[in-house]
Amino acid sequence: ERQKLAQLRRLPAETMDGQTVELLANLEVPLELPLIAQAGVEGIGLFRSEFMFMNRAELPDEDEQTEVYGAAVEAMEGDPVTIRVLDWGGEKEIEALQNSGFTTEISGINPALGLRGIRMLLRNPELLETQLAAILRAGSKGPVKILLPMVTSVEEVRATREILQKVVRRLKRRGEELPARMPPLGIMIETPAAALSADALALEADFFAIGTNDLTMYAMAADRGDIEVAKLYDPLHPGLLRLIQFTVEAGLRLRKPVSVCGEMAANPKLTPLLLGLGLRSLSMNASAVPKVKLVVRNISIAECARLARRVMEQTEPAEIRDLVAEFAEKSA
Ligand code: PEP
Ligand code: MG
Repeated sequence: ERQKLAQLRRLPAETMDGQTVELLANLEVPLELPLIAQAGVEGIGLFRSEFMFMNRAELPDEDEQTEVYGAAVEAMEGDPVTIRVLDWGGEKEIEALQNSGFTTEISGINPALGLRGIRMLLRNPELLETQLAAILRAGSKGPVKILLPMVTSVEEVRATREILQKVVRRLKRRGEELPARMPPLGIMIETPAAALSADALALEADFFAIGTNDLTMYAMAADRGDIEVAKLYDPLHPGLLRLIQFTVEAGLRLRKPVSVCGEMAANPKLTPLLLGLGLRSLSMNASAVPKVKLVVRNISIAECARLARRVMEQTEPAEIRDLVAEFAEKSA
């Protein structure tokens, strides 16, 4: 079994009808880098930068961040690294930020609906500028992409792009080495507003990464961590699937790459459905890659599309769950 998985690493993630699927890794801490380099992925689809800000009294400066991002870029040896700027807020608490004088939460009424992700960064542009500068500098070592968390509007993307351009000018004046090409600027789709305005956002953003963990939470109005509503926190709810479908179709129409980087992407039972909805890029914990790749290699896009069509006709999560389970059994 283990040997089989090792062989699998070198085989392409290609369906039986010859469609390639891009499998990428999520990174939460740099300790995972050696594992990711061995996982048989084509890059890092989600580099969560939060770890760098946690459990310390002072914020990491530009040089420190450049080094950390640069190490990931070098470890991936030419495969792209998608670095998400700081997603602070909600349940996450960062001491260094509280000590910094930056504005992290004004009202404290509902942190999940407050100054989280890109909202907090645009409220504290220096924090964003430092991080963008470090990503750009790391990008001189290999391909990087920039990913924005918790986006709800085109203005947030426009404002970030302006800041990015300002940072580029500043780095040029300083004589820093920059990427040969400007890194793509993409956004997380993890709020219903973003999903349902994906067509407008696709005109501003270079790519989408669907964050199903938060998208499920915000769509279902059920906290990720609240066991009392864990039953409602259901990625197979038709409401959530329609948000994903709308996003994927907008991306396809406007030729912007779309990936899924939430937990859904790591669940091999859901791979056929995601491919059937039109997705061709999945980013997950490195340990999930072999199982997902195995499924990809055992199915055809044609049957996935049929499954997705049937699923999208259902109105109840239980029926969807049955269809998905039935398909998984049949193709196992
Ligand atoms: C998500 O929300 O699905 C996601 C990938 O981001 P995080 O889990 O870091 O919030
Ligand atoms: Mg998220």
